Amino acid sequence: MREKLDTIPINDAFASGDECPFCYLERDAEHRAIKYTIGPGASYMEPEIRAITDRRGFCRHHLHMMHGYGNALGCALILQTYYTGVLMELERQLDSYELPPKRSLLRKKPPVAEKTDMLAWLEEKQSSCFVCDQMDENMQRYVDTFFAMLKDGEFRETVERSKGFCLHHFRILLEESANSLPNGQREWFHEKIPALMQENLLRIKEDLDWFVMKNDFRNAGKEWKNARDAVTRGMQKLQGGHPADPVFRSADYGIKIPGK
Ligand SMILES: [Zn+2]
Ligand SMILES: [Zn+2]
Repeated sequence: MREKLDTIPINDAFASGDECPFCYLERDAEHRAIKYTIGPGASYMEPEIRAITDRRGFCRHHLHMMHGYGNALGCALILQTYYTGVLMELERQLDSYELPPKRSLLRKKPPVAEKTDMLAWLEEKQSSCFVCDQMDENMQRYVDTFFAMLKDGEFRETVERSKGFCLHHFRILLEESANSLPNGQREWFHEKIPALMQENLLRIKEDLDWFVMKNDFRNAGKEWKNARDAVTRGMQKLQGGHPADPVFRSADYGIKIPGK
């Protein structure tokens, strides 16, 4: 197997003790993507990169992260040219904008709105994201490497000893297993991974139970056990991500967004 560069991040993620090694990898990929987009390397000043951000735009979540990162001037420059494109596209949409047909008064339930060009354009604007694209590319590579690493018995043992995955990444692994799981590990994967998920969801449920118990004044003197951060981990285990993470903020910029 191609050692080192590809496998190191996966091994690090499994060694981190995170509730989901793929959430750990995803956080790292996301921070790198935000830093690349708006950070001190100033990729946004390179015309070919700006052409891509002008075309792809950003999703809501990553606009919020860019806002939090702290480079207000960089954000303004990126938004400036993006807006130029949006306004040109909107003008084209308005040129061909048509009055929608009248709603029928006879039907109780209106039919699903027909997709107009304007709606399709808006959907495209909201679903496409330069940062998501970079993350997806990296995450796909991590998933492929993970499946390749399963050929190694020692790594399989690491997986078996791990805390499993969040439900979000469990779904992704199950989906991807159809394409990437080596045939030799098919039985192992489908026997061990769902059972690992059950065992670890049960562990989280017990931590949540103890968290609730601990908040009863009669149990005030008892040990916290592993329940102190049960809510944070309980949320992560369902949908992924790290709910307790602070805003990813750059130390590189003196310019602050007003109100920050
Ligand atoms: Zn995850
Ligand atoms: Zn995004």
